[in-house]
Amino acid sequence: MTKRNSILTGVSRAAELHDEMGLRDKLKDGSKAIDVFAVIAALKVMVLFRPLEGLLGAYVPTPNAAGMLITTQRNLHIQRFTASHELGHHVLKHHAPSLDLNVGFVARGEKNGHEPQEVEADAFASEFLLPAWLIAAHARRQGWGRAELKRAEIVYQLSLRLAASYSATCWALASAKFISQADANALASLPPKKSKMQALEDVAPPSWHPDVWVLSKRDQGSQLIGGPDDFLVLSLEEHSGGGYEWDMDPLPSVGLSVRADQRIDKSAEPALIGSPITRRVVAQSSAPGRTRLKLEERRPWEGSGNAINRVEFDLALWGKEPVGLLRPERMLAA
Ligand SMILES: [Zn+2]
Repeated sequence: MTKRNSILTGVSRAAELHDEMGLRDKLKDGSKAIDVFAVIAALKVMVLFRPLEGLLGAYVPTPNAAGMLITTQRNLHIQRFTASHELGHHVLKHHAPSLDLNVGFVARGEKNGHEPQEVEADAFASEFLLPAWLIAAHARRQGWGRAELKRAEIVYQLSLRLAASYSATCWALASAKFISQADANALASLPPKKSKMQALEDVAPPSWHPDVWVLSKRDQGSQLIGGPDDFLVLSLEEHSGGGYEWDMDPLPSVGLSVRADQRIDKSAEPALIGSPITRRVVAQSSAPGRTRLKLEERRPWEGSGNAINRVEFDLALWGKEPVGLLRPERMLAA
């Protein structure tokens, strides 16, 4: 079998599994990433997280049950991609165990040195987590066209929403033909730190490790799969002329500390449509967990019933999976 056939086998099995699990319909509004761990649990594959040395993951088929090992030495995005690769071995009915030192090589265009089953599982992994239809759904919701998808800071924001690494997102955009391979190479060479700095402006984080989400009304109802010390940069139109303002009091009660809070007046911009005032708030999470953040725009002296705008986010800021079995509270799809 040629390498091309192996890739097609992996890709088509991923598309079938999307259909079997009803994922295309569930995720069509671009508000979520694929919850690979929920799919693995639904297929009754055992997952164990261990501090594997030199290995990203492994798939172990047995006659009665199948299991996978995933390293705890890498971040959540790599854990999710590795789990998707091991899921590929399972749903492609591979009978030999697989020890995986390297995943994502098909998307990166590494041509040689991989067994056909590895190519199948790896092509499955990319297609399952980052299919063109899911990228299109997120881009549609955010109003991103082909020009925006060539910008590093936009691709970085897209990668967060897909709960994938920035580089995996660059390759997926090329594979789905939203951008050229040359554009993907150029984007992948830019470190996400620059996009984080741009988003945070004058807020200096203690390290550049946390991710920085730029959130607007377009993210209403979205689920954010991130880390315990991630930053949220809220950018919301505010109708202060009528006395309305966004009530930011709920931030500390869900464990978010405010690092900056400002109003940006854009009334001098000639082509302005909508409210001239943008409320920009930078907040940082401080602990792992899942919570709902609900914000309202209303007059400070009026009650909740009089809000003129509301946004709500499902914050799943657990970070990477720790040593142990997959825990039920981490299932996001439900
Ligand atoms: Zn493998």
